[in-house]
Amino acid sequence: MILRNARLAGSQTLTDLGIQDGRIVEVGPADTAAETLDLGGRLVTPPLVEPHIHLDAVLTVGQPRPNVSGSLFEGIAVWAERVADLSYADVQARVRQVLRWQLACGVQHVRSHVDVSDPQLRALRALIDLREEARGLIDLQLVAFPQVGMLTFATGRDLMRQAVELGADVVGGIPHYELTREDGVESVKFAMALAEEHGLAVDIHCDETDDDQSRFIEVMTAETIRRGMSGRVTASHTTAMHSYNGAYAYRLISNIARAGLHMVTNPLDNAVLQGRFDTGPIRRGHTRIKELQAAGVNVCIGHDSVMDPWYPLGYGDPLQAAFVLVHLGQMSGDAELRRLIEMITVNPAAALGLPDYGLRPGGPADLVVFDAPSEADALRLVAPRTLVLRGGKVLARSTPVQHTVVWGGVEEPVTFVRS
Ligand SMILES: [Zn+2]
Repeated sequence: MILRNARLAGSQTLTDLGIQDGRIVEVGPADTAAETLDLGGRLVTPPLVEPHIHLDAVLTVGQPRPNVSGSLFEGIAVWAERVADLSYADVQARVRQVLRWQLACGVQHVRSHVDVSDPQLRALRALIDLREEARGLIDLQLVAFPQVGMLTFATGRDLMRQAVELGADVVGGIPHYELTREDGVESVKFAMALAEEHGLAVDIHCDETDDDQSRFIEVMTAETIRRGMSGRVTASHTTAMHSYNGAYAYRLISNIARAGLHMVTNPLDNAVLQGRFDTGPIRRGHTRIKELQAAGVNVCIGHDSVMDPWYPLGYGDPLQAAFVLVHLGQMSGDAELRRLIEMITVNPAAALGLPDYGLRPGGPADLVVFDAPSEADALRLVAPRTLVLRGGKVLARSTPVQHTVVWGGVEEPVTFVRS
């Protein structure tokens, strides 16, 4: 197969890509193949990577009751009621639907947090089996996530250990939700020790609050340095960093860079859940993305929620989350628009430690074609993915909608791309 006139992300020129035995090969203008496709200058990226979603909660919006205020804490209360009704089949049915949505958006790798506060670990068991079913289509990493804290009830730490023994890939945490600051510190140390013992990665919901006194990210940083776990540790949300004083944030960010932490910001949920206690001006509630990036820290975009008690909208498209971050993160600069595409592709691929990722001769023929000529246009249009390949095989495709307008009595086609 030959794909002609691809506009690879980060490049201004058009490239031809050959695909042979599931991998990318170099081709020249004279080469032929059984199937040749002219992409007409469309943007091509490696697969989208979702580094932060809660698959166990997807599609539960309104169950058993709506989140009337829309706040984080009412969301946690509604979810606690819904967890009582969880079943293996219920989780699998909802997740199967959303995995298809993600695949249609070009996502091929997903890290999902899974609530392990349930003594029977029903959601985790359902997702471990789905992880096998979906392997090779959309690969899952599962995080043992203690939604209501791990030291807030007697068996919290036992459930974390059980989740790891059952097959969780990553150890999670939620230190700002523990009963005391000291418990929060202990929960981070427990998670890091458990991960180190089992050779796993760490991904902690850290400082997801506007409270400028919430500083568990410094504990994660110190533990990562002391244990030599650089590259295996991710801090998600860190919205409190937005409110730290400049002197503290400066020292912290240089230590985060030294520790080699990966950071995940979740623009959709953060935008609606943070700043709820402000009466005006209302803080945007996003972490210090630009300062982290300037220090060389790997920052990724997560979707977080799809139609659940915390966020009622979404269909699992990382590009939609990136579009929102253009505005709330003020990332509308020319280079920043290109960086946003990296934040849903190569950056999360590094955070997830994906071993064979990226478009290069000899690399896997895993790629996504956008119905847009550039990164900026892909974001502007939240452009449909017209073709998704994995190992050279079609996993998803779409036929873009054809719009027409009647102008001066004549019906004519119209596209939203500048001619
Ligand atoms: Zn989350």
